Amino acid sequence: MGKNVNIDKAVRQHLEMEQFFSGFSLKGTARAPEPQQQKEDDMATAQKAAELETIAEEVKQCCKCGLGSTRTNAVPGEGNPNALIMFVGEGPGADEDAQGRPFVGRAGQLLDKIIAACGLKRSDVFIANILKCRPPGNRDPRADEIISCLPYLQRQIEKINPEIIVALGAHAARTLLNTTKSIGQLRGQFLEYYTGIDRTPIKLMATYHPAYLLRNYSPDNRRKVWEDMKKVLTELGLPIP
Ligand code: URA
Repeated sequence: MGKNVNIDKAVRQHLEMEQFFSGFSLKGTARAPEPQQQKEDDMATAQKAAELETIAEEVKQCCKCGLGSTRTNAVPGEGNPNALIMFVGEGPGADEDAQGRPFVGRAGQLLDKIIAACGLKRSDVFIANILKCRPPGNRDPRADEIISCLPYLQRQIEKINPEIIVALGAHAARTLLNTTKSIGQLRGQFLEYYTGIDRTPIKLMATYHPAYLLRNYSPDNRRKVWEDMKKVLTELGLPIP
């Protein structure tokens, strides 16, 4: 278990930050809520942020698999606790391992462009990975590593409860959908991520990983990712820029 997090302090700090900046931009933007409702929403958001921080602290202390001893930094994930869209990648690369943040290298820059092309900001969404620590040499995640690590992501998804998960690449899509199908077969359609018995599944859109796009750039591959993202925006009722 990770070091204790002072929930009250985290909630207070989050509320102060919330008031200082403009707030979380997507959920609840339709009409300004009543002051009392606003206060309750802010408290709920702050509570969620604190719970996500607790998970992040556990991830930073985690040594459940061998990657705990080879990482520089764990990469728990980051973003808006009220995100409508949650992006899930494979695992940290060298840049992410160095900084402790997801998608900050070349693939991350491309993901930022995809998010911007959707008319969104990085702070509107939540970004996480299947693995929280970098596999040495960027090798593929191993099954035992995924099994050890997946509960952290499952808890993050449960807390955030996004409208849509965008699985980036084959590893994320196959793991979340519990299938061995190829990314070519999975992408481009809404599938379902099951959160548990008697719970409504979360819609999942699989698409190509930004690193795959960088390695296999073609107008056709780029178009396919944009088509997938347009479906996500349409499903959310958001305008297509
Ligand atoms: N690739 C991933 O899958 N995740 C990252 O965070 C960075 C690159």
